[in-house]
Amino acid sequence: MNIVLMGLPGAGKGTQADKIVEKYDIPHISTGDMFRAAINNGTELGLEAKSYIDKGALVPDEVTIGIVRERLSQPDCDQGFLLDGFPRTIEQAEELDNILSALGKSVEHVVNIEVAKEELVKRLTGRRICKVCGSSYHLIFKPSKEEGICDKDGGELYQRADDNPETVNNRLEVNIKQSQPLLDFYKAKNVLTDINGQQDINLVFADVDALFKSSRN
Ligand code: ADP
Ligand code: ADP
Repeated sequence: MNIVLMGLPGAGKGTQADKIVEKYDIPHISTGDMFRAAINNGTELGLEAKSYIDKGALVPDEVTIGIVRERLSQPDCDQGFLLDGFPRTIEQAEELDNILSALGKSVEHVVNIEVAKEELVKRLTGRRICKVCGSSYHLIFKPSKEEGICDKDGGELYQRADDNPETVNNRLEVNIKQSQPLLDFYKAKNVLTDINGQQDINLVFADVDALFKSSRN
């Protein structure tokens, strides 16, 4: 299954992605995670990406498309993949179609997780991330068993630099403006499904899972 996960920052893409890739055994390709890993490793890509991410701006298309093209051509994507945080622009979406058609593939499902802006601000400012595996927690909505420690691997939890109230508002504004043309793009291709993201994490997953199951029958 070739899946694109959409939704504004904080909608729950990462949280749902964890559940989808576990159940369907496909790689989770998150451009945000790839940039953060590059920043942590101090690579050239990381240095370039950091200057944009710190401002809450998008990393330029040519950089982002390049890392996705490379990742999608790896053999573990043969049975499907879950893209999270990509595409974010029409140019990226068109390039994704080109990359996939060259590989004899296409986007099968675009899952759009919908959550109101006021709720997103609460989710983002309370979010905590594992330094080791990148899993998302929330101080109130999804606390770890032990404060500041990841349930899965004992990694230290930290707050993303861009999850502060000033950057959050800018990120949401940038994303709201940029996501509508993409949603229209995928709607026209008949692959878009809206999912109500403002319900319990397991109920959101049940809706996503029902969609995948229904399309396989
Ligand atoms: P995204 O990847 O879309 O930016 P995350 O999956 O990191 O979003 O989720 C953002 C924050 O909201 C995290 O702190 C996460 O624990 C929390 N969260 C995710 N889904 C829900 C939900 N359905 N209800 C409440 N909180 C949620
Ligand atoms: P969120 O969706 O919660 O804002 P992500 O982890 O998806 O966070 O992305 C973090 C940052 O990485 C974005 O604010 C942006 O600067 C950069 N980024 C991620 N994906 C893309 C993309 N497809 N195009 C351009 N920049 C991206």
